[in-house]
Amino acid sequence: MSSIAIPALTKDLKRVLIDADTIARRVNELAIKINTDYAGINDKLIIVGVLKGSFIFLADLCRKLDISHEVDFISLSSYGNSDQSTGNVRMIMDTRENLDGKHVLIIEDILDSGYTLDYLCRNFTSRNVASLKTAVLLDKPDRRKVDVTLDYIGFEIPDVWVVGYGLDYAERYRTLPYIAEMIPVIK
Ligand code: 5GP
Ligand code: MG
Repeated sequence: MSSIAIPALTKDLKRVLIDADTIARRVNELAIKINTDYAGINDKLIIVGVLKGSFIFLADLCRKLDISHEVDFISLSSYGNSDQSTGNVRMIMDTRENLDGKHVLIIEDILDSGYTLDYLCRNFTSRNVASLKTAVLLDKPDRRKVDVTLDYIGFEIPDVWVVGYGLDYAERYRTLPYIAEMIPVIK
């Protein structure tokens, strides 16, 4: 088998913040915890990924789960064209599944101000879900504007813009196998 070349950093990227092996180990640890925590539930767990940034994290995490689960997606918009959250979150696409009475685990790529996940938690709670938990790959605690309860956190990171492993900058870099820090864009 030929070895896969790891894409080199481009001029926009400052450094690799979390390499692929470290991500894989952490995703495995989170899956073990989720398997244990949900072992007792009788109904299927519904895993709701927040598009687009969570899709790779979700795909890797779900394939490590041995509990019965379904995958669904939701699409939200908060930033418009800016990289600052406005707190003005809108739903672009709802889940296919009716979440009423279901055990729901939200999968998000990164928690920044917290506005997006706060909106989603309120929205899902109002649908009378049986239980609601949240899993984020990355957490930027320094940037928090609203308090959100996180049940599973991959990594805490500093206040820098990151890309890779699902996360983008203007739709680029999503498929990098690692998480990289971007060189700040001068505006
Ligand atoms: P919040 O509503 O918590 O401020 O924003 C969360 C959303 O902002 C994430 O789902 C993600 O789409 C985006 N975001 C926040 N920080 C970053 C970052 O460093 N890199 C990328 N690619 N997206 C980010
Ligand atoms: Mg997102």
